[in-house]
Amino acid sequence: MSKGLKIVVLVKQVPDIEKVRFDYEKGRLDRSSAEAVINPFDLNALEAAAQIKEKIGGVVTAVSMGPEQAKDALRDALARGADEAVLLSDLRFAGADTLATSYTLSCAVRKLGAFDLIICGEKTIDGDTAQVGPEVAEFLGIPHVAYVDEILDISIAEITVKSRLDGDNYVVKMRFPGLITVTKDANVPRLPTLKDKLRSRKAEITVWGMKDLACLDEKQFFGLQGSPTGVAKVFAPTSGKKKGQIVMGTPEEKARRIAEILLKLGASQ
Ligand SMILES: Cc1cc2nc3c(=O)[nH]c(=O)nc-3n(C[C@H](O)[C@H](O)[C@H](O)COP(=O)(O)OP(=O)(O)OC[C@H]3O[C@@H](n4cnc5c(N)ncnc54)[C@H](O)[C@@H]3O)c2cc1C
Repeated sequence: MSKGLKIVVLVKQVPDIEKVRFDYEKGRLDRSSAEAVINPFDLNALEAAAQIKEKIGGVVTAVSMGPEQAKDALRDALARGADEAVLLSDLRFAGADTLATSYTLSCAVRKLGAFDLIICGEKTIDGDTAQVGPEVAEFLGIPHVAYVDEILDISIAEITVKSRLDGDNYVVKMRFPGLITVTKDANVPRLPTLKDKLRSRKAEITVWGMKDLACLDEKQFFGLQGSPTGVAKVFAPTSGKKKGQIVMGTPEEKARRIAEILLKLGASQ
């Protein structure tokens, strides 16, 4: 009997977007203003992995890059069906743009050894670029399918998925090894049981720093130094509400008033 698939799920810890405040002076999110949670789309990635494991067996490894506190996200991942967890944490990983993040994650996947499928969320709710999944696939030289809404079929050798891009649906069959990014429509993430939560609290989480990720190529896209891009300015979105005025009166008065306003704005008679 086959031992199933080796699945890697990439999870990022993000601030709870419902509660987080924006620091207008510094022009960035005040991450201390809200508790950190697993990126919601990564819950769909974990659920997809758990369902695949239930169907054909296998081992699920959750990997996250972040500070020590990202261990909480990994414990949550363990409670939701992951078997192992690896945290990539090193001061030299800090300030990574999407390229450096993807490079670091791909080095970790290489270190984990042979794998069949990597599952990511379609995007994060803080960075929101949706670049990391496809970039990890590029660094590893494997195919990927993004924005997967549904897993239609899966075997030990390949996966068939429905993906939605620009309003069109695509059915794609991909041989392993490969990577998918899943949308919130892919499944309904399960709630961990109390037993699973307690078990995950005691679980061991492997921590790797830069020295553990000896990638064999010459490129070293680690952290701020290895990031070719940087955020020049961050600002909170405005409400988008347009200024307006309500015109009162009889229909004739309203028409006259609107005509006056339009003329004032430059409309010709
Ligand atoms: C130009 C630019 C410059 C930046 N500069 C900085 C900076 O100086 N300092 C800084 O703190 N941040 C910076 N960031 C943010 C940082 O790059 C992102 O947090 C990170 O690269 C992940 O990108 P994302 O959140 O958009 O992920 P997305 O691409 O939206 O995420 C898709 C999926 O990838 C996986 N994933 C993403 N990130 C991780 C992770 N860390 N661990 C595990 N899985 C993950 C998850 O499965 C996720 O659902 C910068 C971003 C950009 C675009």
